[in-house]
Amino acid sequence: MNLNLDISFNRTIEQLILNELRSAHHSNEPITDASLVHRTSKTRMLGAVGKVAALPAFPSVRGLVELGFVRGCDLGVLSRDKFVPLRRSEEQILVAVANPWNYRADEYCAAHFPNADLLKIVTLASEISGIIENASSSSGPSRADLEAVEVDEYSGDIPDFAVSRQHEEPIAQLVAAMVSDAIKQRASDIHVKTDKLSCHYCFRIDGDLGTHVEVPLKLRNRIDAFLLNLMRLAPEERSKRPGISGRFTASYYGRPVGIRYERHRTFRGYHVTMRLLDKAHFEARLGMGTLAFDEGTLFALEKALAIPSGIIVMSGPTGSGKSTTVNAMLRQLNRPEDNILTLENPVEDEIEGVTHCDLRDSTEFKPMIASFMRSDPDVIFMGEVRDRESAELAIEAAITGHKVLTTIHTPSAAQIIERFQQLGMERWKIAQTLKAACAQRLVKLLCPVCKDRHEGVGEHEMRLFQLPPEWAERVVYKQNKNGCPECQGRGYVGRTAILEILPISPALGDAMSKGDLTPYELEQRVRRDTGLPSLRENGLKLLREGRTDLEALRKVLDMTVPG
Ligand SMILES: [Zn+2]
Repeated sequence: MNLNLDISFNRTIEQLILNELRSAHHSNEPITDASLVHRTSKTRMLGAVGKVAALPAFPSVRGLVELGFVRGCDLGVLSRDKFVPLRRSEEQILVAVANPWNYRADEYCAAHFPNADLLKIVTLASEISGIIENASSSSGPSRADLEAVEVDEYSGDIPDFAVSRQHEEPIAQLVAAMVSDAIKQRASDIHVKTDKLSCHYCFRIDGDLGTHVEVPLKLRNRIDAFLLNLMRLAPEERSKRPGISGRFTASYYGRPVGIRYERHRTFRGYHVTMRLLDKAHFEARLGMGTLAFDEGTLFALEKALAIPSGIIVMSGPTGSGKSTTVNAMLRQLNRPEDNILTLENPVEDEIEGVTHCDLRDSTEFKPMIASFMRSDPDVIFMGEVRDRESAELAIEAAITGHKVLTTIHTPSAAQIIERFQQLGMERWKIAQTLKAACAQRLVKLLCPVCKDRHEGVGEHEMRLFQLPPEWAERVVYKQNKNGCPECQGRGYVGRTAILEILPISPALGDAMSKGDLTPYELEQRVRRDTGLPSLRENGLKLLREGRTDLEALRKVLDMTVPG
């Protein structure tokens, strides 16, 4: 059993934790261990661990930490054994542990702080790795960081990689520094580019490309060769093809981070993009963290998920976090009694209990779905509807009684219906099968430490974004262009998802299939009847709360259209 805390306990302790959860579960209906775990948030799970261990449980301990103190500890040991001494006061050491039954923390503290009492608290493994990452040097990776980036083989067929020996080589060290820095800064991608006079790399963080780091041009081919070696690509695969794809895994303080590699030829050499598939950013759940949608939207989404058959479509441009939300939906639907199959390109976030399949090329789509349909599925996730064939397959699967999740590229939820029509689907089929059309964006959040306060929105912006008059008086915040140490000079910290949803009720579907309603009218009617917010309204809510600014909103939304 996986208790969803990123650590494992022994069977007896696990049972004690489950008993604790069961006693707090106020319901008479019988529930399996798996469902119980599934319905429990990490915070509540942590509470149960604390109770069983008779230790106080803190979901967040970052406010308690003295980074200077942590820096003096052996970060390698801390990350391996998932504990962190937070601070020292008088004769006491405050230690946060992820697993209270692992006594390494006690041994370490007894050896290093022999005269101090130990005050132990329990926290999440992610909190501990977060603190260790922060405690490691903040300006570029240190020697310790470099040592920490080990390169594992991705598939079992690849022989062991001699990690420490590789790290003594300058190129290995350079690549390790680049990768560990990207992970630490929570980048989504690393770009390596060559032009006439130089070679550089840069990171994409919260949707924006950051500053270039120059690399001596003469090292260009060495870096290239090193990366290709990591993936053990055969020489014939390297030379001829214009594009090369691969994967490898980097281990960052014991945490595996999958890296998807893509390279294409350019006039001056090559352009490499490495997408970081950092598990720490996945495992998102509906209603929590980035996906903390407003109550009405969340309820409408959960209601759509509860309908036994039909299509739920998520739209938005690349990088709008569609797949994160779909994966959170799959987590919600994931029950041992249901057979869930996915067809993705590529598989990014593996969920235990879900059968993930990767689409190797587009010709496989139809035969794979045909095979899925014979595999007794309950839920199917089809990566993307991009053409008539995939639209037909999605509708066919829904008509024959399956729950289908998919994604599509359209700017708004209402346009999903139009898109299906453009792909040649009959209206009545869309009306009969579509249960919810959703659109999502990721909006950058202002750094809470350095954001700038402004009295009212300026006249030009008022007109440009057609804001109602009250915004001229309202306090709004804007990005501090210089930033602060907290946001590493960016003025923004992280992003949050906003979602608009159009639930298609049987009555609406009926009106639509008769041709009484255009998609636009349908949208208006849903908004009027349900009060569910549009993307724009969701965005303005974040602005009102001082969590983002107009600049960040207009980057991801057409704010010039009122509604
Ligand atoms: Zn800041």
